[in-house]
Amino acid sequence: MANLVPEGLTADVFNQAVAEMRAVVGKQWVFAEDQAALRSYRAAYGATPDEAHLPSAAVAPDGVEEIQAILKIANDYRVPLWTISTGRNFAYGGPAPRKAGYVVLDLKRMNRIIEVNEELAYALVEPGVSYFQLYEHLQKTGSKLWIDPAAPGWGGPLGNTLDHGGGYTPYGAHMLMQCGMEVILADGTVVRTGQGALPNSDNWQTVPYNFGPYVDGLFTQSNYGIVTKMGFWLMPEPPGFMPFMVTFPKQDQLHDLVEILRPFKLNLIPHNGAIMADLIWEASTKATRRQYYSGKGPIPPSARRKIAEDHQIGEWNLYAAFYGPEPLNKLQWEPLEAALRTLPGIEIYYEGDRKGDPTWDYRRDLMRGIPNMTEFSLMNWIGGGGHINFSPICTPYGAEAMKSWAMIRDRANEFGFDYIGEFAIGWRELIQVLMLMFDRTDASQRDAAYNLFNTLIEDFAKEGYGEYRTHLDFMDQVAQTYDWNDHALLSLQERLKDGLDPNGILSPGKQGIWPEHMREPR
Ligand code: ADP
Repeated sequence: MANLVPEGLTADVFNQAVAEMRAVVGKQWVFAEDQAALRSYRAAYGATPDEAHLPSAAVAPDGVEEIQAILKIANDYRVPLWTISTGRNFAYGGPAPRKAGYVVLDLKRMNRIIEVNEELAYALVEPGVSYFQLYEHLQKTGSKLWIDPAAPGWGGPLGNTLDHGGGYTPYGAHMLMQCGMEVILADGTVVRTGQGALPNSDNWQTVPYNFGPYVDGLFTQSNYGIVTKMGFWLMPEPPGFMPFMVTFPKQDQLHDLVEILRPFKLNLIPHNGAIMADLIWEASTKATRRQYYSGKGPIPPSARRKIAEDHQIGEWNLYAAFYGPEPLNKLQWEPLEAALRTLPGIEIYYEGDRKGDPTWDYRRDLMRGIPNMTEFSLMNWIGGGGHINFSPICTPYGAEAMKSWAMIRDRANEFGFDYIGEFAIGWRELIQVLMLMFDRTDASQRDAAYNLFNTLIEDFAKEGYGEYRTHLDFMDQVAQTYDWNDHALLSLQERLKDGLDPNGILSPGKQGIWPEHMREPR
């Protein structure tokens, strides 16, 4: 007997649904009574208590037919399903459902690497394939293709791409590299997008578009379907790889750094998305806060200086790389290097210059397509487990970077937290990530983190900055900020939801999109 029941269902009806799911996937692949198993799906790092997002059950199908059978049961009994792939996007809620009581549809067992095409450099995978698994597969088979892992590498390409995630090689914009999907709609219909819609086509993973509207994006950050296969492009191993790191001693050098990078990035130099990590993000993979400061509130400047000295790091730390023939890499680096060298006090490091530095090692590996888990050691900075990411977008101007950085820093300090953050500069966008760390065992810290997050969403919306992704607890608030023309976008998303999933069984509330029966008036 399950303990928790989805909203609106009686225990009897729910138990009947669970029994039918067991008949589909086998008893051992439905978890309903085993509280320890269910707790493994909690939002383990969030600012709200575990109970806010505990599922009533989890079901782990192995294949399209089993998913179709589960969908039929969910439609018959109105059981809300929450789909996850590897469920490792922890700073945004991980495997947990939007509301307590949903049934997690866990696709980890579907972890087949269906195809790797060495000549055309692409892969087609199932949802449960992790970055580690794909990397090991390519190593074992002697492939000359690189993957583009997220940090940390226990997530997978399918779930990460669906959540608009990114990586650190030139293939880091995962949405741009995605090519062809297989999706099951709420009524059980299986759709293949792009050239996959043409029987016998060889181009499913080479040409992203089909005849007519391009629909792949509809299944990302959405609750319109269950993606069961996804294709994406892989990077051929380049003849040379030249990673570098630059440290900047002053906080306000962020301004000039972004001004220097923008015109280069528009010309794809450096070749990957460059990361600018602040002092504490950088330090937290090698030290703890207590080693430098045990007081409350933000770390004082004297302690910051000591951290910088001890670890040879800057207030900002730039990581990027060049990929290609060595002479070409050097030629492309020269003008960027010359521009950076106009900034006082900077230091430049190359491969071999930072032996024994775990941060250099993991950043270099990520830029080289080698998955790892080192970034998780950020968690040791404070201890206590809490971390959620606030991730706003701005334009790559120095003044914008400074403004949005100061907005977060000041609010974080006001609520008693350090600024721990980084910027990623892409082709034309600048994404800032605040790693909001807190002691999850302390209710007052949890509340402060929650309130800070909500305040930041409001602050940023007022200035015209949106979040590119968010934690479960803040999906409604963020969706409400995209409200141009009386919420026309959200209204369109809701109309699509009503048409595609009239019973509202797929991930209700994901990204603020609720089915009609759960929708609150605006
Ligand atoms: P990762 O692989 O990075 O761990 P997740 O499995 O947590 O990513 O997926 C990220 C989010 O994307 C999930 O919370 C879920 O809302 C959505 N999602 C994941 N897998 C699917 C899928 N197969 N179909 C539809 N949505 C999915």
